[in-house]
Amino acid sequence: MREDKPFRPLAALLIRRILVWALLATLAFAALQAWLTYRAVEQRFVDTFRSVGSYTAETLTPLVWRIHDDLAQSMLDALAKNPMVGYVEVRENSEGTGRVFAKSGDGSNTDRGIELSFSIMAPYPTEHAIGQLRLVMSKAALLAEVWKSVGVVVLQCAAMTALLVAAVLALLQRNLLRPMAQLGEFVTKLDANNLSAPLAIRRSSSATRDELDLVVDGFQTLQGRIASHVDTLSEQVADRTAHLQRALDSLKVLSTTDALTGCYNRLHFGERFPQELARALRYGRPLSTIFCDVDRFKSVNDTHGHAVGDQVLRAVGLRLRESLRSSGDWVVRYGGEEFVLVLPETSLVQASQLAERIRQAVAEQVRIPLADGSELCVTVSFGVAEQHPSDDGESLLKRADHWLFEAKRCGRNQVQPVL
Ligand code: GH3
Ligand code: MG
Ligand code: MG
Repeated sequence: MREDKPFRPLAALLIRRILVWALLATLAFAALQAWLTYRAVEQRFVDTFRSVGSYTAETLTPLVWRIHDDLAQSMLDALAKNPMVGYVEVRENSEGTGRVFAKSGDGSNTDRGIELSFSIMAPYPTEHAIGQLRLVMSKAALLAEVWKSVGVVVLQCAAMTALLVAAVLALLQRNLLRPMAQLGEFVTKLDANNLSAPLAIRRSSSATRDELDLVVDGFQTLQGRIASHVDTLSEQVADRTAHLQRALDSLKVLSTTDALTGCYNRLHFGERFPQELARALRYGRPLSTIFCDVDRFKSVNDTHGHAVGDQVLRAVGLRLRESLRSSGDWVVRYGGEEFVLVLPETSLVQASQLAERIRQAVAEQVRIPLADGSELCVTVSFGVAEQHPSDDGESLLKRADHWLFEAKRCGRNQVQPVL
């Protein structure tokens, strides 16, 4: 059963997931790089401060010793111009608690990073310090430097990730998603009429086989099996349909035919006779009926038994059927030993002539072998009537039956009316 869910291409899902994971990986990598960069930059700042600080402290020695405030001040001003330096001051004793000898930069600045202090030694060889140089690093400068380095790292990471994602997606698209889409399109278009259509996936040839080749092979095998199954099924259906048709045909013959004589039965007569009459009337064409009755048939049964009686009926029925002139004529076993011939396009005279020919044929040719070696001869009487425009089926048959009665009355084995 097909689930009622919206379609979302596999490519979209893969792209989204790969992008999310690549972004997370980039962020994590960038954070690590940022931290390492921060530590490295900070260390570089401290190293630079140390060398600048100790050099400046040495340079300041004669100035502090000789109390050249103005020179010390201009030196500190020059130093404070360095963006790494937030604040710098020189105090007059070694603990840095004495008078501020000179200072530069913003001492009250909250943007204060690492602080480093350097002793200003006396100009003669002694351990005695005459002042202290305090250098305060500018945190903003440190951070700016860090951001610059981190930015480069993040950009590198992002560019590499974008390249990798694009490469992975291109490979996925080419080697997996496009073949899958072709497979999906092929399966969607497959129906009973094009079952044998070959599944061909367009992709670059390779010396090795992969899962997609297995899918294609499996699909072709499946198609072959379904096709042969369908062929067998079609053959079976055609076979059974023909069988059924034959059964229907023989059923139709059985349902319209009298089993003993092979003539049509009363059921068929009831359906067809009114149509014949109506057609003849509509086109103004003649139509005649002949009522036939085996003479003294009761005594045949009584004298020779029903089996011989049946043989007589079979022989008379056959003779009647053989005597029909065209495919339009037909004969029905109307009752026990009574038959009716229906003759379209036939006048009373033509019907009488036919009845006479049949009468002679029966009388001369129907011979039923009896148990004692002798043969039984039978005769038939005929009543003929032609349709009048005012006739319905009943009146026409009644007239034929009337003439049959006349034939019996006049001695049997004859055709009435005599024309
Ligand atoms: P008629 O010359 O006046 O026609 O005399 P009949 O003896 O032929 O007339 P009747 O109608 O009295 O007899 C018909 C007999 O046909 C009666 C019945 O036993 C017999 N019969 C009817 N159907 C069959 C059948 O299928 N097989 C056999 N063997 N006899 C049948
Ligand atoms: Mg009868
Ligand atoms: Mg009879």
